[in-house]
Amino acid sequence: MHDVPRSKRFDDIYFSKENGLEESRFVFLGGNHLEERLRKAKTFTVAETGFGTGLNFLALWDLLTKTNPDVSLHYISYEQYPLDRQTIREALSPWEDVFDNKIEQYLDNYPLEVEGFHTHYVTPNIKLTLVFGDINETLPRTQNIAVDAWFLDGFTPSKNPEMWTDTVFQNMVRLSAKISTFATFTSAGFVKRGLQDVGFEVEKTEGFSHKRERLVGTWEGEGAIVKNLPKSVAIIGGGLAGCGTAHWLKQEGYQVTLFEQASELSSGASGNPIGMVNPRFYKIPEPQAHFYMSSYADAVTTYKKLSELQDIGFKQCGSLYVCINKEKKARFEDLLENWQLPKHIARILTAHEASEVGGIEFEQSALYLEQSVMVNPAKLCEALADGVDVRLNATVQNIEKEDGVWNIDGEKFDAVILACGAGFESFKTLNSKNLQKVRGQLSLAKISDATKNIKTSIHYSGYISPQAGGVHAIGSTFQPWLDHDDVLDEDNDFNREKLEEIFPLLKDNIEVFEGRASFRVTSKYRFPIFGETQEGLYYSLAHGSHGLATV
Ligand code: SAM
Repeated sequence: MHDVPRSKRFDDIYFSKENGLEESRFVFLGGNHLEERLRKAKTFTVAETGFGTGLNFLALWDLLTKTNPDVSLHYISYEQYPLDRQTIREALSPWEDVFDNKIEQYLDNYPLEVEGFHTHYVTPNIKLTLVFGDINETLPRTQNIAVDAWFLDGFTPSKNPEMWTDTVFQNMVRLSAKISTFATFTSAGFVKRGLQDVGFEVEKTEGFSHKRERLVGTWEGEGAIVKNLPKSVAIIGGGLAGCGTAHWLKQEGYQVTLFEQASELSSGASGNPIGMVNPRFYKIPEPQAHFYMSSYADAVTTYKKLSELQDIGFKQCGSLYVCINKEKKARFEDLLENWQLPKHIARILTAHEASEVGGIEFEQSALYLEQSVMVNPAKLCEALADGVDVRLNATVQNIEKEDGVWNIDGEKFDAVILACGAGFESFKTLNSKNLQKVRGQLSLAKISDATKNIKTSIHYSGYISPQAGGVHAIGSTFQPWLDHDDVLDEDNDFNREKLEEIFPLLKDNIEVFEGRASFRVTSKYRFPIFGETQEGLYYSLAHGSHGLATV
């Protein structure tokens, strides 16, 4: 018999030893009457406490396929200690025949194990949100869902009382739809009373296999408020911010029209031929830091999926951050200590190991992000905007609101999103005091004998990419004081010299043949700006040099 996965931390098993899938079907699907309810539903939301291997998710997906595959399902699940893909694969192996390619399809959407809310579409109508972190912190931060059915699947309450707290029960009520049900494998008295205290009608029924009893129940009330979002949206700007937003809204079912003043997408700062997807580092895992880390994690997953459909110049090359001095090394060590990231996400390599991995001789140790990817930003923008109504050579000069709708050259939209990077200056609706244009020039160098083995992107006070099409990108200047985009020889020299300081072997072995200067927008908070300036007018700006992760 196949071993069921067991948690050492909680001294408990993830699912029944007898038959995990049958238990899931009996306890969670049956206990919430999902077969009957899904047959009648158009949309349905399930929330689960304790994602573990994803067995419950797969069991539900399987049921959906057999009953009503057209339902739009949102499955949101909370997990503090995410398992890695390989452990999941092994745990689910007894049901490979039942789930067929669903296991790999779901794992393609399984995020890197970093804290935060990670949403990916597993199929066009199945949205999976995995929320990594302690449920007592993340459930209270959840908004804008109305849950039809709850799967309460923390470990046995006596072994893990933290998963069965009043905070969890109160937030269940806050997030429940007008009629919501729950099901759980346990019949523990304090769980029963806790759910009754917040207003659930609770019933004890027959348990699975050797378990005598389990709990099921219903809640009826006003129902959680889900914000009614606009249907038709105009996006102004065809760079990464505009195309990334368009991609997301398209998946969410909006009608999206994208206006770009140039004759092609990504003509501005997003049009560099090679781009690296990396987070911005913070020593302490504070909220801004989580934003960057989880954006990075989701960008890696999203781009990997897109690359299976289209050529976006994708390569999971990894990245190395050189410990250029003692302070830098201490900072990276503190970062790893504070974040407790799994090794396959971040670890420090010795100079020798870094040389092996990076394909060039390192004199210092380096922080290694094995999962990092590189893309061709211009091709990426094309892929993100696929299926969107794109208007090129379309300069929007005026956006006006009339009778509650936005008007752009006679066309009406429920909402407008300004994602026009350096073009923000044209729109007076925006308080642009906090935004700044910053010129940056990157250099393109031909591959040489000295660089041809570089496998990862390498970052110091600048960066060099692995070659793509025989070319390395070397960056980059940061010149808020210059307001032209002419390519300057001195800037190419600056980029090259910084590289040579770190890798003296490259002296006289780097042939820069071209440069590209453009403007990024940054904010005075050194953080992207998202939001609504007035009803129906949104913006996504100031992604700085981390736009590939944050859009
Ligand atoms: N539903 C899972 C499946 O299909 O494999 C099994 C869930 S397992 C019984 C319980 C899960 O709760 C574990 O994955 C555990 O890491 C998670 N967990 C425990 N305490 C937690 C907490 N405070 N917040 C979020 N998740 C927690």
